[in-house]
Amino acid sequence: MKKFQAITLFPEMFSGVFGNSMMWKAQKDDIVELTTVNLRDFGLGPRKQVDDTPYGGGDGMLLMIEPLWNAVQKAKENDPTAQVLLMTPRGARWRQAMAQEYSEADHGYIFICGRYEGYDERILELVDAEVSVGDYVLTGGELPAMTIIDSIVRLMPGVLGGENSAAIESFSDGETLEFPQYTRPEEFQGRKVPDVLLSGHHAEIDKWRASQSKKAN
Ligand code: SAH
Repeated sequence: MKKFQAITLFPEMFSGVFGNSMMWKAQKDDIVELTTVNLRDFGLGPRKQVDDTPYGGGDGMLLMIEPLWNAVQKAKENDPTAQVLLMTPRGARWRQAMAQEYSEADHGYIFICGRYEGYDERILELVDAEVSVGDYVLTGGELPAMTIIDSIVRLMPGVLGGENSAAIESFSDGETLEFPQYTRPEEFQGRKVPDVLLSGHHAEIDKWRASQSKKAN
């Protein structure tokens, strides 16, 4: 069973995503274990401090090295072979091919979710890969971690219904976007499903679908 652990100041953000639909089913079927490590538990002093101002000046706060370091060590105790991923706009941009590769790996993953202006750079010593979800800035690494976890878990064998359902979809060959799809009814308020899809002629349907697939840019 593959473990995914997210180190976060906001564990409750994960409950909706981890507790529903395919992520819930993947846990119920013992395919994955999805948990959070509360960074606050590793905070310093009576106020459980986790952030402080940057050396050299500048706006905002950074996650301090000591609580982060200890949280990563704790997550590694839970899963010694896990790789540590740091959520950061500086990282490699997440792609479907990476989701595929990570879904096939035989070890778990620990996600570090930054907050405020980021984290003390010395945490990089414990990090195996820096990952970004795109060229924009979010308030924290939680949404990126959930996005990445979702994209990996749905590719793991047994999670989706048909084993085929992930194989023919967008980006699975690295460049093609899926063709348009329709379900019942055949006609909705005058809007008809393309005739070819109702023809039962599989070669024609394949040809139409290929013609409608787009190249990703
Ligand atoms: N000051 C930083 C942004 C901090 S945003 C900068 O200019 O780069 C706070 C945290 O949110 C980051 O440390 C990171 O963990 C997370 N985050 C924000 N945008 C992200 C993105 N596009 N991909 C992955 N993580 C992101």
